[in-house]
Amino acid sequence: MILEAISKNFFLYLSNNKWLDRLAKRFGSNFGADKIVGGETISQAIPIIQQLNHEGLHVTVDHLGEFVHSEQEAKDRTQECIRSIQAIASHQLNSEVSLKLTSLGLDISHELVRENMQLILKAAEKYDITVTIDMEDSSRCGATLEIYKELKETYPNLGTVIQSYLYRSDEDLDDLNEYDPYLRLVKGAYKEPGTVAFPEKKIVDDNLKHLIKKNLLNGNYTAVASHDDAIIEFTKQLVQEHEVPADRFEFQMLYGMRNDTQKKLVEEGYKVRVYLPYGEDWYGYFMRRLAERPANISFAVKGIFSK
Ligand SMILES: Cc1cc2nc3c(=O)[nH]c(=O)nc-3n(C[C@H](O)[C@H](O)[C@H](O)COP(=O)(O)OP(=O)(O)OC[C@H]3O[C@@H](n4cnc5c(N)ncnc54)[C@H](O)[C@@H]3O)c2cc1C
Repeated sequence: MILEAISKNFFLYLSNNKWLDRLAKRFGSNFGADKIVGGETISQAIPIIQQLNHEGLHVTVDHLGEFVHSEQEAKDRTQECIRSIQAIASHQLNSEVSLKLTSLGLDISHELVRENMQLILKAAEKYDITVTIDMEDSSRCGATLEIYKELKETYPNLGTVIQSYLYRSDEDLDDLNEYDPYLRLVKGAYKEPGTVAFPEKKIVDDNLKHLIKKNLLNGNYTAVASHDDAIIEFTKQLVQEHEVPADRFEFQMLYGMRNDTQKKLVEEGYKVRVYLPYGEDWYGYFMRRLAERPANISFAVKGIFSK
């Protein structure tokens, strides 16, 4: 237990290390990252999406990269999102798009990120593709939800994420209810202080169940994004008990995680979506996954020695 906590903090610390990020970019995704990342370009990701679709899995692609330092970089990221939307449409893929607002300039200005989001949402609207705004660390949660609310009325195909580790999430769910939200519910992946987040895992798990129940019974579309069997079983029982229609919810898992469970859920008739990240900026994403599950280290280590 103590070792697990140390390794979690260690990998979350590494995920923010700019020097290692630069080094990782230079060496490419050879450290086992290719097991959980769909290549460095959308063209490399396309055959993977086709294969997942072939297996009955829906997809959401995410162009990796969080922090941009200039308006131009944010505009470049916006164009990359639009290219991924066009690629999904032209290859007739069953895929949505996920993105992070910091990659579109959230830390630079509110206007910039809103303008970039509008460009992306106009492109997505043309092809009826849903876009989900990932949730980043707690310091950006308020600004992310503000953008979501500003855009949701004009662009109905817009989703976002609520993290059960945050104290604020129950109120956020109530606040979003009038927007007919499409919500992905997760436990939360960032290192957060006890002033904003529940320190105990059991409470985070229970709160996720609470949020899933509340959002589903509010009649809002719910994406249950977890690899945890207890959460998956809870959702299955809940939807059965309350006769929630199959088109009001889905399960989501990360690419490369619990492949057998993904397959089994599809066989049982559930809608399952795989979150497939791609791009050169795979380092921070990879480190957060190692922090969540030290067992992932084994394939990272194998990756290093097998290349
Ligand atoms: C599709 C998707 C999108 C996400 N988007 C966001 C986001 O926008 N913002 C954010 O902060 N976080 C996001 N996350 C991450 C999320 O917040 C959690 O950090 C992450 O999913 C780990 O929590 P968990 O519920 O999967 O399981 P955990 O609480 O980590 O694990 C619970 C149990 O599940 C089982 N388990 C977990 N992982 C595995 C595995 N890989 N293989 C086998 N068994 C496993 C184990 O039995 C484990 O004990 C996302 C996750 C998913 C799946």
